[in-house]
Amino acid sequence: MKLAGIHHVTAIASDPAANAAFYTGVLGMRLVKKTVNFDDPSTYHLYYGDDTGTPGTILTFFPWPKARRGTPGVGQVTAFAFQVPMGSLSFWCKHLENAGLVIADEGTRFGERFIATQDPDDFVLEFVETADTALVAPARGATIPPEHALRGFHGTTLSLEAQEQSGAILTKLMGAVLETSEGNRFRYILGDGPGRARIDLLCLPAGRSGTGGTGIVHHIAWRVADDTAQITARTELVSAGLNVSPVIDRNYFHSIYYREPGGVLFEIATDPPGFAVDESANTLGSKLMLPEWLEAHRAALEATLPPLK
Ligand code: ZN
Repeated sequence: MKLAGIHHVTAIASDPAANAAFYTGVLGMRLVKKTVNFDDPSTYHLYYGDDTGTPGTILTFFPWPKARRGTPGVGQVTAFAFQVPMGSLSFWCKHLENAGLVIADEGTRFGERFIATQDPDDFVLEFVETADTALVAPARGATIPPEHALRGFHGTTLSLEAQEQSGAILTKLMGAVLETSEGNRFRYILGDGPGRARIDLLCLPAGRSGTGGTGIVHHIAWRVADDTAQITARTELVSAGLNVSPVIDRNYFHSIYYREPGGVLFEIATDPPGFAVDESANTLGSKLMLPEWLEAHRAALEATLPPLK
């Protein structure tokens, strides 16, 4: 199968307004889609990304104000990293501190400088200075100067009890390569060029299992070019004995899901049709978008959902 890096990451948040204020106001991402959780339409599903919602820049949240808080740990995506241009880390340090955030970690990993902070639900976000940053369109109207704007995902960290079985799925089935390792961190590369994903498998044999809830990643989606390539990928995963969902229409992409051996939920999502399928590129994210079967309930939903600003 041919996967081209990260398509999107989906996590659980608590307060939708705080989530939107942080990702748009502090990080300068664009709210590219405001819709509801199709399985629980009284709650939002919020999508952030670059100006057009390019796959590889998309972060999505289910804000569940009543959900319990999750515990990060083994079997989870425990961090994800954004690419920033060379020389931008000092800007981000100052900018995050001015926003009241704490720089929880900083240093050099595999030769690249990084800083780490936490979002309003304490999820770990890393910012990595990357020489060959991906070409993305910075969000219009963002307060971040375009030369420092986020350039999409750099990669992600999965905390696992052991990395061998998960690594084998990545290399033998998904087309990743094991690039290097430092201590208990094994770096795999998925895809080519600036949009490639750096997938770090962190071995924590004595680590505690994580629990789901707010501040925890629900799943990570990998990019596939189109429906045909997705079917090929599905066939290969099923042949290898994995339990794979049927293709599900998510309006903005088509998805299949499977759990890798370390317990992390993986998705493979198509690039098309994208976020301009139901509203224009100029108005992305400005209106609550609903699938046809929920349009009849629009007034009730709009009255229930809390305002984001
Ligand atoms: Zn997804």
